Amino acid sequence: MASQSRRSRGDYSASYRNFSCPQPACSTQEEYLVHHHRPTRPSRFSLYSWLVLCSLALLLVPATLTSASSHSGDLCEKDLDSNEPVCTAKSTMSGDGERERTFIMIKPDGVQRGLVGEIVKRFEQKGFKLVAMKFTWASESLLKQHYADLSSKPFFPGLVKYMSSGPLVPMVWEGLNVVKTGRQMLGETNPAQSLPGTIRGDYCIEVGRNICHGSDAVDSAKKEIALWFKPEELIKWKSVEDPWLYE
Ligand code: UDP
Ligand code: MG
Repeated sequence: MASQSRRSRGDYSASYRNFSCPQPACSTQEEYLVHHHRPTRPSRFSLYSWLVLCSLALLLVPATLTSASSHSGDLCEKDLDSNEPVCTAKSTMSGDGERERTFIMIKPDGVQRGLVGEIVKRFEQKGFKLVAMKFTWASESLLKQHYADLSSKPFFPGLVKYMSSGPLVPMVWEGLNVVKTGRQMLGETNPAQSLPGTIRGDYCIEVGRNICHGSDAVDSAKKEIALWFKPEELIKWKSVEDPWLYE
């Protein structure tokens, strides 16, 4: 027993001499453990600190992301007075410069005549970016709101009847000067005065069946987009074509 105890003491002394045990050198396992292997229970302070830091990070990261997204091109923001979403027709996506949005709508005759793909293709191939699109049969009341400016015109009742006679394809397109360029792509209101190469110049004949609507100004685009689309239906996305379209 005694020799074993001595051997033990000697063994520990020899084995742990290299671990810079405080003087006098450790001579038993217990002494060694006291100096080197004291259980290192994390202090309460550090545990609480980590908990607080992690909670703060969880709170701050989504807030930062939300505030970043609201500055990166959302076209619909909450009005401070009414708390309602207010849509603008301009996007200020970082790196994209200022990009307008316009409201383009394929009318019932455009749908019936199978021209949806052709009209969408023209806007896509020009380089404009699709932001929203739906296929819908609009109510007369929505169409009366859409054409409210023309309500005193003699052709207004016929216009509402024509526009509500079948499904429509309302869309939002985005790009530099897309409002003005969109109108040029459409041609004149009367297809007879529209140049070949324009949508109305190529695909229709009469003013009362001119297949496609396009906003005539940035302000009317804002109103029309807000009338036909909910803010969450306007899709914010980055097109891979972007650097090949804009300097
Ligand atoms: N319209 C019509 N008869 C007219 C003028 C207009 O039926 O004499 C219709 C036509 O479908 C036109 C729409 O009303 O697209 C809206 O008229 P607007 O003057 O706003 O022309 P747009 O902006 O569509 O070119
Ligand atoms: Mg118009």
